[in-house]
Amino acid sequence: MTDRLDGKPVAAAIDARTRDAVRAGAPPSLVSVHRGVDSPFRFYLRRQARAAESVGVAFREAALGPTDGPEELVARLRELDRDPSVHAVLLEHPLPAPFDFRRAISELRPEKDVDGVGAVNLGRLVSQRPTHVPAVARAAIAIARHYRLPLEGEPVAVIGRSETVGLPLAICLAGRAEGMHATVTIAHSRTRDLGRSLAGARTIFSCVGQPGLLDREVVPEGAAIVDVGLSSVPDAAAKGGFRAAGDADPVVLDGWASALSPVPGGVGPVTVAELMSSAVRARDLLARGGSSG
Ligand code: NAP
Repeated sequence: MTDRLDGKPVAAAIDARTRDAVRAGAPPSLVSVHRGVDSPFRFYLRRQARAAESVGVAFREAALGPTDGPEELVARLRELDRDPSVHAVLLEHPLPAPFDFRRAISELRPEKDVDGVGAVNLGRLVSQRPTHVPAVARAAIAIARHYRLPLEGEPVAVIGRSETVGLPLAICLAGRAEGMHATVTIAHSRTRDLGRSLAGARTIFSCVGQPGLLDREVVPEGAAIVDVGLSSVPDAAAKGGFRAAGDADPVVLDGWASALSPVPGGVGPVTVAELMSSAVRARDLLARGGSSG
């Protein structure tokens, strides 16, 4: 029997704390910057708007125009950084060329870089003094903690090493915060033998975006899986002809993995809840005049 690591109760607990925190000051404001109507980010934006309304965060979108390029994006972020009414800014990522995500995000002061993906925030995370930690990493960890998955002192694997998802998550898990101290293996596309790298792992965090990657061949029996991967796969029976899928194959892993977070309904809702919580943190940090870093 494989336990289902449902994200909804985890998100609900985070939202309850966020609502209390929101009331302790001025309404936090979050701006989500994206490329416009064609962006695959749109689905995530709708979720952000709903979650913000539910916890009391003032949310708005800042969409680039159809002819706007990298310079306009940089100018938009510079403007938002200067705007005292804005506490937190999220920038769509990944961004296609010619946009330069790194250059654009560097326009934000670390307190406003709410997803913690700018160079300063990633550096602070490595130095164990984070200002903001990427919401998806916090979400994956929140699920693992809620369901008491083996972490501290245990062999844990992270598959994926992007600087916005896999790597920050691995740094958190290996870090010195309470309940972390995991012994972390990081696998990626150049890993020669994924099954050998995962052998012995008690908890696996998969951050790839490749449906079916995790099956009985590579997952050690009894491991728990937090599935961060999110892909859209054709499905004639689904509304619109597509459905969301994670990296793990839930059918073949049923009865093999000890626990698995579903996609959808696992990491996704918790990520949005963590983002709202970070927006409140941004408000508080700015009110105190910044982070100590
Ligand atoms: P990404 O930048 O494309 O990174 C994917 C990572 O997977 C890379 O490190 C890549 O290795 C590795 N990889 C690719 N093929 C592999 C293989 N066969 N075996 C092992 N590793 C492999 O994607 P991302 O932005 O990190 O996002 C990862 C996944 O998380 C995506 O599915 C994304 O949609 C999802 N996501 C979900 C949420 C949520 O809220 N649920 C939020 C953010 C992201 P290399 O480094 O060698 O290329």
